[in-house]
Amino acid sequence: MTVRVRIAPSPTGLLHVGNARTALFNWLFARNRGGTFIVRIDDTDRERSTPEYERDILDSLRWLGLDWDEGVEVGGPHGTYRQSDRFDRYRELAHRLVAEGHAYHDPRTPDELEELRARARAEGRHPGTYIRRPSQQARTGPIRLSIPQDRPIRFDDLVRGEVVFDPASVDDFVILRSDGTPTYHLASTVDDIDFAITHVARGEDLLPSTPKHIVLAEALGARPPAYAHLPLLLGPDGKLLSKRHGATAVSAYREQGYLPEAMFNYLALLGWSPGGDVTIFSREEAIGAFDLGKVSKHPAVFDPAKLEWMNGEYLRAMSTDEFLRRAFPYVETAVGRALTGDEKRAIATIGLLVQERVKTLAEVADQVGFLLGEPDYDPGSWQKVMTGDHVPTVLDEALRRLERLEPFDHRHVEETLRAMLDQLGLGARKGLQPIRVAVTGSSISPPLFESIAALGRDRTLERIRRARRRLGG
Ligand code: GLU
Repeated sequence: MTVRVRIAPSPTGLLHVGNARTALFNWLFARNRGGTFIVRIDDTDRERSTPEYERDILDSLRWLGLDWDEGVEVGGPHGTYRQSDRFDRYRELAHRLVAEGHAYHDPRTPDELEELRARARAEGRHPGTYIRRPSQQARTGPIRLSIPQDRPIRFDDLVRGEVVFDPASVDDFVILRSDGTPTYHLASTVDDIDFAITHVARGEDLLPSTPKHIVLAEALGARPPAYAHLPLLLGPDGKLLSKRHGATAVSAYREQGYLPEAMFNYLALLGWSPGGDVTIFSREEAIGAFDLGKVSKHPAVFDPAKLEWMNGEYLRAMSTDEFLRRAFPYVETAVGRALTGDEKRAIATIGLLVQERVKTLAEVADQVGFLLGEPDYDPGSWQKVMTGDHVPTVLDEALRRLERLEPFDHRHVEETLRAMLDQLGLGARKGLQPIRVAVTGSSISPPLFESIAALGRDRTLERIRRARRRLGG
């Protein structure tokens, strides 16, 4: 059997890390089995679906390297892979189910249905218990599937083992609304059958839908796919993952300068591991070791701090050239323009120092901003560092020494400024911080001597003079 799996995002929001984890597990499973990974767009909700969200979802999948073999934009034998283009198909099948006796038009009003639900609730039963085929037949109204009550609904979940549902707990649910639009249950089940999906791996939040999909598939004369319900994601505090815990959209992490390979690695660990204590692994290693049957059924914790740590590990493992190549676009976004060749070369001279200090690519702009234009003085740094009585002397002496320094490289800069400290009888903190604020605008910067060398003599002198003028006297 050739494995065919799908993800079915609804374009009603940005790609959430939980859905990205679902996509990743489907992709790993397909790649491990030499199968087909499909992306279908579940856009039956016409009100809330937008092209912008669809773009975000597809861009985020591509950014993570989760390429798909069939589906939206790449094509395949099943049309556009957008549910909004398949409404005729869903309608046709809903009416066929009515004709064959598996489904019926429900003539009851919302008030009547609410009364049935209230009765069930009062008796402590499942709210849908009494939503069953009424004696009176109708030819209009929403179409409900009739759930056979004579046998339990069971299936073997690849993650959870055998799962059994009491049919009394499954109401006769709507498959086609009275306006002729399909529900998620109908569209999703029909597509899984039509597209010959072999395994449905999706979040555990959809577990209550699965007995409905199984009965529906059987009524349509199909064998249901195998199911794997993936564990929920929690925040570090053990509560369901939400925006309170930090960003939940994949694109937000991309904007913050996370690497797709770090994100991929971290998401893969949410409910699975390749074994042993291994936490850092390549895509190929993950593909080789992955199986849906090895996914844990216990909730997984999404911890932004661990993701940040992992991102730092990946950043430091790459060559400095590679680091710079990937950092430059983030710096350009931060300054709102392209970098010149000279600027890139200046940044490159402190590339390794920056690489050792940042946890995300977006932080690079803060570190190298002083090379890209006159910095504004950070008010806190100025107040703390530049108000001491010794500061004018330090700046005058640094100017005198740097003006005639030859060659102007970081080793000679260090030598002469350390000699200056001795001469003035100052410690490194007191004597060098004023120069740092003068040159970079802030009391926090990459190492000073390298920064000065990267900036070059003219700009360094200019900035020290500017700070000196600001002090007056
Ligand atoms: N559109 C559904 C969702 O976004 C997909 C559910 C499924 O995989 O069947 O949750």
